[in-house]
Amino acid sequence: MKTDRYIRYDKEFDARYEYTGNDLGVTCNKEGTIFKVWCPLADGVTLHLYTADNSGLYQTHGLIPGEKGTWTWETTECLHGMYYDYTVYRDGEATTTADPYAVACGCNGVRSMVVDLSRTNPEGFLEEKAPALQTENVLYELHIKDFSYDADSGVPKEYRGKYKAFTVQGTNGSYPTCVEHLKNLGITHVHLLPAYDFGSVDEAGDDSQFNWGYDPLNYNVPEGSYATDPHDGTVRIREFKEMVQALHKNGIRVVMDVVYNHTYAPDSWLERMVPGYYNRRKPDGTYANGSCCGSDIAAGRAMVDNYIVDSVLYWAKEYHIDGFRFDLMGLLTVELMNRIRKELDAVYGKGEKILYGEPWRADESPMEEGTRPVLKENVSYLDDGIAVFCDATRDVIKGHVFYEEEPGFVNGGTGLEEKVLDAANGWVGSSLTTEGFAPRSCSQVVNYTSAHDNFTLWDKLVITMHEGTGKNNEYCEDAAVPCDEKVFETRFEDVVRANKLAALMYFTFQGHIFLQAGEEFGRTKLGDSNSFRSAPTENMLRWHQTVEYADLLSYYQGLIRLRKKLPGLYDKSASAKERITNRTIHGEGVVSFQVDNGSDKREPYERLFITYNASDSEAHLPLPEGEWVVLVDDTDADCEKTVTFVEKVAETGSMADRKFAVPALSGMILAKIS
Ligand code: CA
Repeated sequence: MKTDRYIRYDKEFDARYEYTGNDLGVTCNKEGTIFKVWCPLADGVTLHLYTADNSGLYQTHGLIPGEKGTWTWETTECLHGMYYDYTVYRDGEATTTADPYAVACGCNGVRSMVVDLSRTNPEGFLEEKAPALQTENVLYELHIKDFSYDADSGVPKEYRGKYKAFTVQGTNGSYPTCVEHLKNLGITHVHLLPAYDFGSVDEAGDDSQFNWGYDPLNYNVPEGSYATDPHDGTVRIREFKEMVQALHKNGIRVVMDVVYNHTYAPDSWLERMVPGYYNRRKPDGTYANGSCCGSDIAAGRAMVDNYIVDSVLYWAKEYHIDGFRFDLMGLLTVELMNRIRKELDAVYGKGEKILYGEPWRADESPMEEGTRPVLKENVSYLDDGIAVFCDATRDVIKGHVFYEEEPGFVNGGTGLEEKVLDAANGWVGSSLTTEGFAPRSCSQVVNYTSAHDNFTLWDKLVITMHEGTGKNNEYCEDAAVPCDEKVFETRFEDVVRANKLAALMYFTFQGHIFLQAGEEFGRTKLGDSNSFRSAPTENMLRWHQTVEYADLLSYYQGLIRLRKKLPGLYDKSASAKERITNRTIHGEGVVSFQVDNGSDKREPYERLFITYNASDSEAHLPLPEGEWVVLVDDTDADCEKTVTFVEKVAETGSMADRKFAVPALSGMILAKIS
């Protein structure tokens, strides 16, 4: 039967060919090996076996057609360690492809590999478990190469930039680095930038290559350039598991960044297997391009959604992954995301696996009929257990990400007071949001000020607060003068203060807490706003900065400890919004609000008084009745200091005159003790 490969596959096709078995790919154990592909309307499929990832052909076998467009070949031999690919015959053409369902592959992912997964587990892996969830999740976005590439990382040279770096203990010579730093900082989740097999780094090439990895080649295989041997496909699997195990052992959970919205190239393994089905086409037959990579995935089709759900469940089960960050959810659907939430909850219990992602897309894409893209306007249709990155919060704090000199609240922006107070509520019920963004609960919101995209928080603050230091970037052709990169390595005291205020703000906003690795010690990328393939030496964490910015680091540590302690801050229930009262604008750049800090547990502080002063002069604010202490001021976080009043009540006898000072460009948390 001839097929038009540009047809828009319809519901009738899905009804006829949807295969719901969980055995696509290769099943290999002591009893034998089964190869199975979903390849409807093909005229034939052959399997090629190889003894190594770069050796000549060993054997060829024809697959036998089965139900729902599946094809199978099986043997009683255990083919563990064998490499393979397929040729698909369709419409008189022969196409060779790796297996899109492969769980292992050789160098650069071009040949799939047969693996008996039970042989890839490090010692104790089957029994190992994630540490218990804490009161709050603090998500720390980290690139595997950035983590340990620095010679000061304390990691042996052969493990730098690799999965293995996470297994190195005791990296706290004169100051803690790598895993010791993470433990010290108190974050609860490491969120790894793409660690599935991506295509932009030559795994056989040298170590100076770098890419973020938003270019998936094999969705169910770990990336090979982070393994000590990219050729033997079992090595990357074992070392990835060792990384997860080591993080768990150190009390840290692991989130994976997953990019199911597009493939590395339009010519993907999925496209080769079933042309026009997995990679979305426009009605005129050209590739849809909502990802700006020319290779959108057609979420909303039965076998596409099944593929994505199976892949997520696979990482959770096989690698003990604790959560997923979805790239460009605007190309995925509300229905799919809610289904993933439900299926993970059914297996692991409600909320055990965290889910969040980007509620946008790079461009329009012809979505399947009857589906809703996960854009900001549709967040209210999402399960409460799925959160989205909140660009409104990010921008109100530090300014727009694309207009580099546009400031936010902490770096000179004006007229933002009301927005700041709405951001504190996670924008729930706000009338100041745009693009139809209306979260039902702060559990749907991820608050942050920096991520891998755009400037680091430090660089953005330097550019906006020290005029003429900006560097041209691709988004802003008429940006400031070409920069002297050294300027970003200068410790500006006003930038440190603004950074502390920015951190205090999002650590006291309702919602989830997310930070880019190194934000806590003034991470700079020397003014590079899009470092996806810049040198690893520019991208890497410079561990010595933890010493130069020890005060900033200590401030973040304190905020993290407090965030876990104060229910008024970590509450993500539907009624969390009600905790915030007495929202007040005291003047330009000065706001305050109070937080009901009560809970079932006996909390030491019944109320919090939170204030942000972004102005350049000291603010004097009246303190409500009762006895209060300072938990956070401009220099310390998680302290317990006596409140210093500007004017004593005794002098005037009026409560209204009981005022305390908030220094310029700083914020405070006060807590009521009686
Ligand atoms: Ca790769």
